[in-house]
Amino acid sequence: MPAAARPALRVLAVASEAFPWIKTGGLADVVGALPAALAPEGVEVTTLLPGYPAVMAALDTVQRVEPLPDLLGSPARLVHATPGGQHVVALDAPHFFARAGSPYLAPWGQDWPDNPMRFAALSRAAATLAQTGGFDALHAHDWQAGLAPAYLRFDAPRLPSLFTLHNLAFQGQFPAELFPALGLPWDAFGPAGVEYYGQVGYLKAGLWFADRITTVSPSYAAEIRTPEWGMGLDGLLRGRARALEGILNGLDTDEWNPATDPLLPAHYDAADPSARAANKVHLQARMGLAPDPDAPLFAFIGRLTWQKGIDLVLEALPAVLDNGAQIALLGTGDGVLEDRVHGATAANPGRVGSFIGFDEGFARLCYGGADAVILPSRFEPCGLGQLCALRYGALPLVARVGGLADTVVDANEMALAAGAGTGFNFAPVTHPMLQASIERAIRLYRQPETWARLRANAMATDVSWARSARRYATLFHEMRAGG
Ligand code: ADP
Repeated sequence: MPAAARPALRVLAVASEAFPWIKTGGLADVVGALPAALAPEGVEVTTLLPGYPAVMAALDTVQRVEPLPDLLGSPARLVHATPGGQHVVALDAPHFFARAGSPYLAPWGQDWPDNPMRFAALSRAAATLAQTGGFDALHAHDWQAGLAPAYLRFDAPRLPSLFTLHNLAFQGQFPAELFPALGLPWDAFGPAGVEYYGQVGYLKAGLWFADRITTVSPSYAAEIRTPEWGMGLDGLLRGRARALEGILNGLDTDEWNPATDPLLPAHYDAADPSARAANKVHLQARMGLAPDPDAPLFAFIGRLTWQKGIDLVLEALPAVLDNGAQIALLGTGDGVLEDRVHGATAANPGRVGSFIGFDEGFARLCYGGADAVILPSRFEPCGLGQLCALRYGALPLVARVGGLADTVVDANEMALAAGAGTGFNFAPVTHPMLQASIERAIRLYRQPETWARLRANAMATDVSWARSARRYATLFHEMRAGG
């Protein structure tokens, strides 16, 4: 049935963050982008968020306020508003959410001790609103919303729920003593329920009770069913394989557009990418690199953590330095890794440049000025950096894992013969393999026509939400139909 002929379907999404109101990572981008991407598919999304100060401040268009007299033992309110034209409901529970700083961490750097109750309250409110607000389905994201499908299953078993997993590394496990305060029936505690090895597992609850499960790429959906990457939940995920699928994240291609990006010094498009050269000059200057237009310029942009493989980049540096190339490193994270980045920069002046910090404009200059962007993640549920690189014509050089494997076409000999290829990938994820693919990329960089072909292929890749939004919409329609 064409989308226009379908009856409109109303979904309540619940998450702990959504761009542009509150963001600590990729979860916020997805939750923020999906409503607009789903609207043309006949799916109307309302998003329930914790009433953090930043969220409450954005509610300049309050439409109504609904009291929740007893939300797990305390009063709270649901504030319905339409900031930026989107349907948003804030859970106004100041005792849980009226706190400055990070949504998850106290100023002393540790998790807020009452995080289990804060996010149980969010999930409890979501299940209540899903039933009373005339919604057709609930869409819960990550462990912070993991209890919502559990509440819904006991309150209103016929209202379907979808649980989306953005990173299995964050599971939300808490002591079993917490269970009585959650307001779930005793039936819910046990391996066939919210229990995870004697604890209460919020992520586990979502994976157990949701009718359908998605994660953010097809390859990650397969990887998390293996003992190596299932992080203790692979057995459950294998058991639920028929309900699980991977749907790739997309980019907002208006926001990420090298022809109009206000944070880029020089604009260009796929038809004429020549202005990338001017961005490269800016990037070399800002990173303290030698002003050399012919040196292949690599970039790394990301969190400086084990997951993202920055240590592999540092170990593979000889491949860059011995072949007349340069590298720009941008990121923030583990102190030890930050020190190693500083050390490599000091040891290789003019050839290795770095900036420790989170800087959106700097990141865009890297995508718009570097020749290639390295993403050697050890695991990557989806990854946005390679999508940005494709869109901006920097060839992604990626580990063949998760969403990186699903979005980059390796320029191997067969692909090159067919005029295909959008970047490079390597496996296993070790520094000799990374080093070899850097050397391969440098060889192709020195064949300007081939490189231009690959860059054109990269920029022609569809990194928008369009296809994935259609898949989510189909899923919601199937769920409403009882599938
Ligand atoms: P994750 O959410 O696991 O950190 P993703 O690849 O999903 O990784 O998203 C990371 C996004 O954040 C990318 O768009 C990347 O460009 C951006 N980013 C990462 N580190 C920085 C930084 N130091 N400065 C600016 N942008 C950054």
